[in-house]
Amino acid sequence: PRSVGVLALQGDFREHIAVVDGLGSTGIAVRKPEELDRVDGLIIPGGESTVMDKLSRLYGMADAVKAKIADGLPVYGTCAGLIMLADTVLDAITGQQSFGGLDVSVRRNAFGNQLDSFETDLAIPAVGADPLHAVFIRAPIVETVGPKVETLAALDDGRVVAVRQGALLGTSFHPEITGDTRFHRFFLSTLG
Ligand code: GLN
Repeated sequence: PRSVGVLALQGDFREHIAVVDGLGSTGIAVRKPEELDRVDGLIIPGGESTVMDKLSRLYGMADAVKAKIADGLPVYGTCAGLIMLADTVLDAITGQQSFGGLDVSVRRNAFGNQLDSFETDLAIPAVGADPLHAVFIRAPIVETVGPKVETLAALDDGRVVAVRQGALLGTSFHPEITGDTRFHRFFLSTLG
């Protein structure tokens, strides 16, 4: 079976591991650079990007993940994980860095205080004909996309919430907590 690493420094990595295991692949909590050499793909979970950034630099994971992204390792980021994959982070805290790789700008906490969290059904043709129930929790929005970025899903008002560029996949929402595993299956189908 394929081994899928889940960056386990912070955030809801356990939920992702459970989904991956449930789909017949092996989810592996990844905390050390050398553990990245044993996986066929990587998921960066939701959580808090400012904390994930600090911890990943502290434990030498930032450079290791960047090198794997440059190598073409398939990586899927959800919510804070999408922020970590974005080349440009808007409303970042001072000094906040991302791994980068996705030619997008992403705005943190884009829905503001009144609408911290919400759920909606999204049309995502890439994962199937039925709409996907999407949960947004203090979610980012993709504000600009580069020429090589494919938009996979947008809200009714046009704001982009799922993107793909080469081996990189990112969603503003959290498919790991809804029981609908189509987005994880879509990611797993891209692994070698
Ligand atoms: N607001 C968080 C951040 O900036 C992301 C929230 C989430 O991952 N659910 O990292």
